[in-house]
Amino acid sequence: MRITFLGTGTSHGVPVIGCHCPVCSSADPHDSRWRSSLMVEKDGTRVVIDTGCEFRLQALRSGIGSLDGVLYTHAHADHLMGLDDLRVFTSEEKRLPLYSFGDVLDRISACFPYAFADYAYKGVPRLEKRVVEEYGTFSIGSLRFQAIPVLHGMMRIAGYRFGSAAYITDVSDLLLETNARYLQGLGLLVIGALRSRPHWSHFSFDQALENARKLRPQRILFTHISHETSDAEIRRRYAPEAYPAYDTLTLEVDDER
Ligand SMILES: [Zn+2]
Ligand SMILES: [Zn+2]
Ligand SMILES: [Zn+2]
Repeated sequence: MRITFLGTGTSHGVPVIGCHCPVCSSADPHDSRWRSSLMVEKDGTRVVIDTGCEFRLQALRSGIGSLDGVLYTHAHADHLMGLDDLRVFTSEEKRLPLYSFGDVLDRISACFPYAFADYAYKGVPRLEKRVVEEYGTFSIGSLRFQAIPVLHGMMRIAGYRFGSAAYITDVSDLLLETNARYLQGLGLLVIGALRSRPHWSHFSFDQALENARKLRPQRILFTHISHETSDAEIRRRYAPEAYPAYDTLTLEVDDER
C-alpha cells in the first residue's frame, strides 16, 4: 500500500497570507505546506482522507485521475472546503462515497446540500454519505480501514487505521486508555503536531511525541504543522525518533505487521 501526503499544513497553510516570518519566507520547499490531506492507494484503489481548500491543486500536483472514496476526519473548513472539486470524480450514474462519523457527515451535507440532493442541478458533485461507527471497519476496493475516535479540543473526531499505519491529525487527546489496543503494531504513526507551544485543541510536538512513544510505532511522522517552526528545526530537534512529514512525501506502508 502506498501513501502520499497531499498537504501537511495547519488551517492557515504555510506560508500564511501576509506573514513575513522566516518560515513563511523560507526558500526550503519543505516549508511550503498546503492544508493537511493524505492519499492512500493499493492495487488500483485510491482514496483521500480530507479535502481541504487546496484539494484541486493537490490532485493536479499528485496526478489524481480517479477516486474510489473520501474519508473525513472532521468537518473543519481546512479539511473540507475543497469538496466541490470532487465533482470530476462523480456522475449522475456514479455517486462518490464519503465516509466518517454520522455527525461529521451531517455537517458536511449541511455545508454542501446540493451535492447530496436526490434531484441535483446538472454538473454538481454527486456524493453519498456512508456513516461509520466508532471503531467500525469498512472496505473500499482493496483497502480496509478502521475509524478510531480521538479528541480535538472538545470534539470527537476520526483517526483512521489502515494496514500497519494510522493517520491521526488535529488531535489533543489520543484516548489511549481505550485506543491503545487498536493502535498496536504500527509500522507508521502519522500524528498531528501543531507547534512548540501548547494549543487547546492540538498536540504540540512534545505532546505528540510523548503520546506516540506509548504506542511504540516503528516510525513517527508529524503533520498539520504551523509556520512557527521550520522543517529543518523540527528535524534537528526530533530526528531520528520523529520526522516532519512534508507535502508530496510518498511512502510504502506494510499491511498488518
Ligand atoms: Zn485542521
Ligand atoms: Zn509566518
Ligand atoms: Zn480541526
